[in-house]
Amino acid sequence: MTRAHLTVAICTIACAVGVACISPNTRSAVDGRGARAEEAAERVAVDHLVTESIATVTRDLTTPAMEGRATGSAGGERAARYIAQRMVTLGLRPAAGDDFLQPYDVYETAIDSTATVLRAGSVTLHVGDDFVPARDGPPPPARIVGPLLFVGYGVRDPQSGHDDLAGVDVRGKIVMLLIGPRLDSAAVRVSPWAREIGTNAVRATLAQAGAAGLLLVNQWPASRTYEEMARGSGISTLSRDSSAPPAALPVVILSESAADRLLALAVTSLGQLSAAAARGISTTQLIADSASLQLQLRRQRHRAYNVAGMLTGTDSAGSGEAVLLMAHFDAFGRDAAGAVRAGAADNALGTAMMLGIARALTVAHAAPRRSLIFLSTSGEERGMLGASFWADHPSRPLSKLSAVINFDGIGTEVFGPVRRVVGFGAELSDLGTTLAGVERTLGVIAEPDPFGAQRPFVRSDHIIFARRGVPALMLLGLPADSVAVSMRRAMAWVGTSYHAPGDTIRADWSWQGPRDLAAVAMLTALRVANAAHRAAWYPTSEFQRPATTASRP
Ligand SMILES: [Zn+2]
Repeated sequence: MTRAHLTVAICTIACAVGVACISPNTRSAVDGRGARAEEAAERVAVDHLVTESIATVTRDLTTPAMEGRATGSAGGERAARYIAQRMVTLGLRPAAGDDFLQPYDVYETAIDSTATVLRAGSVTLHVGDDFVPARDGPPPPARIVGPLLFVGYGVRDPQSGHDDLAGVDVRGKIVMLLIGPRLDSAAVRVSPWAREIGTNAVRATLAQAGAAGLLLVNQWPASRTYEEMARGSGISTLSRDSSAPPAALPVVILSESAADRLLALAVTSLGQLSAAAARGISTTQLIADSASLQLQLRRQRHRAYNVAGMLTGTDSAGSGEAVLLMAHFDAFGRDAAGAVRAGAADNALGTAMMLGIARALTVAHAAPRRSLIFLSTSGEERGMLGASFWADHPSRPLSKLSAVINFDGIGTEVFGPVRRVVGFGAELSDLGTTLAGVERTLGVIAEPDPFGAQRPFVRSDHIIFARRGVPALMLLGLPADSVAVSMRRAMAWVGTSYHAPGDTIRADWSWQGPRDLAAVAMLTALRVANAAHRAAWYPTSEFQRPATTASRP
C-alpha cells in the first residue's frame, strides 16, 4: 500500500465516523487565516451532512401520493410544493422571484385512444393493445387511406443487388416492414445488405418514395417486448411550445399478434414472412387493397413548476455571483397500465442529495462567499423543459453563475459507501481541478467517464447551462468495487427498472453512499463559491464562450 493510499484509508475512516478530515497534503498547502476558516467551515458542513435527511426526502418523494411526479400532473405539483416547503423550513430565501415556485406552461400532445384506429379489410386494431406510435418525436396527426403493402425489411442495397422494393411503388401506400435482424439467420449475419435492417435510412427511403405511413414490426432479439414497449411508450409528448406538432409521416410499431392478424388477410403469417426475409428471399406483397390509419391527437395545457431557494453568500452583495446546485425532481408518473414509476434513483435521490447539502449548510451556518442557488427542476425527462425555462427566465443572469453542479443518475451511489467518483465534464473546465482537490480531501478516487460515446454529460439539465457558457459538472458515485463490477450491476438495473415501475427504494440501498457523494458535491460547490476567480471552461472546450442569459421580458 502506498503512502497516498494510507492517507486515503485514514481519511475514509475519519469520514465514516462523521469526523471531517483534511488530508495532510492539502493541509500543508493551505496557508492564511481565510483558508483555514474555509477549511474549518468545510469540516463543520460535512459533519452536518446526514444520511437521515437524504433518506427522508427520497422516501417522501416516492410515496404513492406523489404518483411518480410527472411534469404537469397533480403529483408533480405536490412534489414541487413539498420541495418548496422543505426549502422554507431550512431557511433558504426564495430564488424564483419572490417565491420558491417558478410556474411554467407545458403543452401535452396525447393520442386520443378512442378515435385512433388502424383498419384493413375486416381487421380493426386499437392503439395501445395493438400498436403504439414509434418514438421518433411528437406523434403527428394523420388520417390516411391506401393499400397495405408488406416489404420485408424494406432494404434497398444496390451493391449486393438486394432490393425489397423491386417492382413495387410505395407511393400512397401504408407500408409494413420488419425492423431488427433475426440473429438466428446465417444470411442476416453475413450479408452486407443486412446492415441496413431497421436503420433510419430505410425509413427515410420509404418516406422519400412517398409511403403514406409505416407499420413497424420489431424483430430485435434482445429488445423489450411489445407489451413492455407499449407500457412505457410515449403516447404523449410534452413541449414548452404551444403550437401543434406539424403533420409528418405517421410511424407506428405493431404488436406481433396485430401483425399476424393483418398478414392473415393475405393468407400468410409473420412467422413465414420473417423466416423467408431472414434468408434473403423477397417477401414483398400486397396485404390488403384498402387500409386506413387514423391518428387523432388531444392537446392540453398543464402547469409545471421549478423550485428554487438560495443560501445568500457572505459576499453576495459585492459580486452578485452564485453557484447553482441542481437536480430534477420529475419522473414519469403512471405507465399505460397504471403502475406508478416512482423514480427513486432517478431522481428523487438526486433531489434529496441536493436538499441534504442545503440542510447541512444552513444548519452549520456555513455560507460561502458567493451565494448558492438550489434549483429543483421538472420536465427533465420530457426534454429538459424546466431547466430551459429557468435558463430563459433566471432569477439572476446566467453571466453571474460561476458554475452548475447537477445530480442526475442511475443510482449507483446506493451500491455502498462511495469510494470512486466520476465527474462528467471534469475534463472541460477548471471545475475538474477543484473536484480533484475535493476528491483528495475526502479520500475518494477520481474515475474517468465509463460510458464513453453515450456521453451522459450532454444528457441532463446542466447541459442547458453549459451550452449557454456556464461551466458545469455532473457527479456519479461508485463503491470500492471495480468500476466494471458496478457498471454490470447498474446496467442490469437499467434494463429492468430505469424509467419503469421498478425504480423504487430497495432494501439493499446504502444511504451512506449518497451522503458521501453529496459531500463531494458540497465541498466542490463551497470551493467554487469561495474561490478568488470564477470557474472557467478550458479554452479547448467546445462550451467555451461568455455566459449569456437569453432572458425574455
Ligand atoms: Zn434523471
